[in-house]
Amino acid sequence: MFTSGPRTGGKTVALTFDADMTADQGPRAAEGERFDNPQLIATLRALKVPATVFMTGRWAEQYPIQARGIGRDPLFEVANHSYSHYAFTADCYGLPTIDEDRMRADVERAYTAFRRAGVPDAKPYFRFPGGCYDQRALRALSATGVTAVQWDVVGGDAFATDADAVARQVLDWVRPGSVVVLHCTRSAAPTTERAIRTIVPELRRQGYRFVKVSELIGAVASGGLT
Ligand SMILES: [Zn+2]
Repeated sequence: MFTSGPRTGGKTVALTFDADMTADQGPRAAEGERFDNPQLIATLRALKVPATVFMTGRWAEQYPIQARGIGRDPLFEVANHSYSHYAFTADCYGLPTIDEDRMRADVERAYTAFRRAGVPDAKPYFRFPGGCYDQRALRALSATGVTAVQWDVVGGDAFATDADAVARQVLDWVRPGSVVVLHCTRSAAPTTERAIRTIVPELRRQGYRFVKVSELIGAVASGGLT
C-alpha cells in the first residue's frame, strides 16, 4: 500500500485524478451525462502539470479517444481504478459491491480495456473504488501483482460546488511527497478544473514540483529523490 512519497529531499507533490464510471452507468452516458472532463486534461496540459489518471476500464470504453490521448501523452500516466468501479468491500459510499471471486478479473479487465483503447503501457498501480479495502481485497489484489495506491490528501472535489473550497483544502493539507486524490469525471466533480487553476500556481509559488505517482514510488524504492 502506497500513500505518499518521501517527506524530505525535495518538495514534490503528485496530483491524481480518478476517472470514475460505474459499469451500470452506460445508459446515463447515452443520455448525455458527461463522465469525462476534457477541459481538465486541457488545463493540465496548458499548465504542463504531470499527473496520474486512475482510470476505470468502463471509462476507457466510453471515451477511447480521450483514454488513448491521455495514455500516449508523456505528461500523464494511466493507472487502474478497476473495470466496473464496484466496491471491493461492503458499505462503500453506496457503490455496488463486487464478489471476492470477481475482484482479480475486474482488475485485469480494466487493463484489457486500456489496451483496446490504445493505451500502450498502463502502470501496475491500483486504486480501490471509493478507496475502500480490507484484508480480503488486499489479498485479491496481491494475486494480480499490482500495487495499491491511496493518498494522504483528499481534494474533496466529489460533488463539490465551490472550487475555492476545494483549492483551499488541497493547499492546507499538501506536504512534501503528498499524493492528492481528485477526479476526472465532470458530472461528479464539476469544479475540479477551476480548482486546479488555483492550486497549481500557488504550489509552484511555494516551491513544489509536480510529479507522477511512479516518480514518488521510485523515490521511495531508491531511498530518496534524485
Ligand atoms: Zn473512483
